Amino acid sequence: MKSKNDKPLLILNKLTELYPEAKCELDFGSTFQLLVATMLSAQSTDKKVNEITEELFKKYKTPDDFLSLTQSELEEKIKKIGLYRNKAKNILNMCRILISEYKGEVPGNFEDLISLPGVGRKTANVVLSNGFGIPAIAVDTHVFRVSNRIGLANSKNVDETEKQLMTVLPKDSWSLAHHLMIWHGRRTCEAKRPKCDICKIKELCDYYNSEKC
Ligand code: SF4
Repeated sequence: MKSKNDKPLLILNKLTELYPEAKCELDFGSTFQLLVATMLSAQSTDKKVNEITEELFKKYKTPDDFLSLTQSELEEKIKKIGLYRNKAKNILNMCRILISEYKGEVPGNFEDLISLPGVGRKTANVVLSNGFGIPAIAVDTHVFRVSNRIGLANSKNVDETEKQLMTVLPKDSWSLAHHLMIWHGRRTCEAKRPKCDICKIKELCDYYNSEKC
């Protein structure tokens, strides 16, 4: 008989079968570019960010390259993305700090990352996980929605959701679990209309079993 404690692993296994290719959908060629792309992705889509960075990263690859731009020049290059003025300001300030305090390198620990302008828990965890291979669960809008619907978490905020997921999921699965929930959220467990009728994990889902679907 399956115990309640089996549920997280059953869900992970099922999602891994469904999305064997699940990975970060942002395009980047270095940890620094990953940091910039993740900062740009707030309240935007990865697709839109990739469209912008495809050109941007051809010429601007390092903090020094970015600092050759004025804020208004960078704004012009990223203006198709939401909150572009604030993002341009934060990216340039972040580059200045990387050069003055970290020899131009992205720091590989959480505390230093979240001290950078415009970098919150989610961005720091994405960079640790995808840039440094350090287990981390970045809770974005998809991870928050999907994990709370399924019942892997039961929280009204992202910080608490992150803590709960770190408790129920094995550490070596955190980064993969993040990608799997994003992929499921984008493809099936959509925000407005979750496709519960065709969902392959519905038997394991609290939301489905509570007949809210
Ligand atoms: S059953 Fe519905 S709510 Fe549950 S994970 Fe699937 S799509 Fe999302």
